[in-house]
Amino acid sequence: MMVTTMSSQRRAMPARVRGALTHLRDRDTRDALRSALTAARANRRRPVAAAPFRCPCCSGDTFETIRVLWPELIEAWNVGPAEVDYINRGQGLTCATCGSRLRSMALAHAVMAKLNLGLPFSALSLRHPLLRILEVNRAGELTQFLRAFSGHVLAEYPAVDMMRLPYDDQSFDVVLHSDTLEHVPDPRRAMCECLRVTRPHGFVAFTTPIIHGRLTRSRLGLPDSFHGYEGAVEPDLRVETEFGADLWAEVLAAGAASCEFVSLEFPAGVAVVAEATSAR
Ligand SMILES: [Zn+2]
Repeated sequence: MMVTTMSSQRRAMPARVRGALTHLRDRDTRDALRSALTAARANRRRPVAAAPFRCPCCSGDTFETIRVLWPELIEAWNVGPAEVDYINRGQGLTCATCGSRLRSMALAHAVMAKLNLGLPFSALSLRHPLLRILEVNRAGELTQFLRAFSGHVLAEYPAVDMMRLPYDDQSFDVVLHSDTLEHVPDPRRAMCECLRVTRPHGFVAFTTPIIHGRLTRSRLGLPDSFHGYEGAVEPDLRVETEFGADLWAEVLAAGAASCEFVSLEFPAGVAVVAEATSAR
C-alpha cells in the first residue's frame, strides 16, 4: 500500500513471477521474493548520485539512484517534466548504506527535527527506547530501525484498516506512515484515526506524494491509476487521492493541532508532521 521503487527491477520480471507476486498477500513473503529477485540482478549497479546531506537514517554518505515513474502513470497523474524529476528523486534516491529512499530519509529527518535531536534515526531507540510508535504499513525502509523499540507496532494492510484502527485512544507517542494516505478511500478519516490513537502533544509524521504546484484532487470517477510498479493492479496500490499544496488543510480538517512541512530537500524530500491536540 505504498509507492515503492521496485518498478525498474520489476519491469524485467517474467510475467509468471509478477503474477505470483500479485497474489501473495503475505507481506513478508512478498518482500522476501522481491529481495531475492533484486539480489539476482545485483550486478547491475545503480548510478551513483549526489546529495547535499548525510542519510538522516544511518549517517551514510553514499547514494545511488533509479528512475521509478513510467509513462502510463505520468500520463494518468498529468505531471510535467519538473514534477517527474522530483518524484523520481524522492522515490529513487537511495542510501547505499541502509537502503533508505529519499522519502524515508525525509520522514526520519522530520521525526528527529520534531524531537529536537541531532542524531541519525538509527540512534533514536537508544535515546528514547520507550517510545510507543505505531507504523501504519511499512514506512519505507524505517521498519528496520523501528523494530528496536519494544513499543513498536506495525499495522499492515489488509489486516488493519487505516480508517478503523484497532487501538485505544492515545495509545501511541508517534504514528508514522509513508506513501499510504493516497491509497486510502477516505484520507481524512484515516488521518482522524491516526490522531485519535496519538497521545496529546504526540505527533503523526508521514510522507505522501505531493504535487506542490497544484491542489489536491480525488481520482473518484477517473480511470484507475496505480503506484508501485508498471502493470500493478493490486487494490492497495490504486491511487485514491493525488495530493497537492493544500494538503495542510486536509490535515487540520482531520483535527490536528498543527501541520508542519519539514523539508530535507525541497521539493523531492518533504515530510508532514501533524501534532495531536490536547483538547480531545
Ligand atoms: Zn542510510
